Amino acid sequence: MDCIFCKIIKKELPAEITYQDKDIIAFKDRHPRAPVHQLIVPKKHIATLNDLTENDTLLAGNILQIACHLAKKENIAQSGYRIVFNCNKDGGQEVFHLHLHLLGGRSLHWPPG
Ligand code: AMP
Ligand code: ZN
Repeated sequence: MDCIFCKIIKKELPAEITYQDKDIIAFKDRHPRAPVHQLIVPKKHIATLNDLTENDTLLAGNILQIACHLAKKENIAQSGYRIVFNCNKDGGQEVFHLHLHLLGGRSLHWPPG
């Protein structure tokens, strides 16, 4: 399958990995939109948020926990941050392997454009 994030997970493409366990990987976004911009990604290929099943409930919870852990590690937990799942076209999804954006280190506009 021609999936960029699967290739990063298989170490066929480079990435600045910030966290890894048996189910989840996190790495820095290649085109950061904020001083901190990381992606938290399940190792299992799940195309979009619509494809999560009830079997993925623990995985989804762990993704959230890791986002929070990385926010603390990056010292943005107190100043604040945003986490985002983009889903499909109107959500602006470009990579069809589920990922949670962690953004922070500056004041983030709301609502997003
Ligand atoms: P989305 O629009 O939610 O699908 O976000 C995809 C994100 O993946 C974008 O912010 C891209 O900058 C990022 N991205 C794409 N390719 C890579 C890569 N090889 N390494 C790191 N980040 C990437
Ligand atoms: Zn994939």
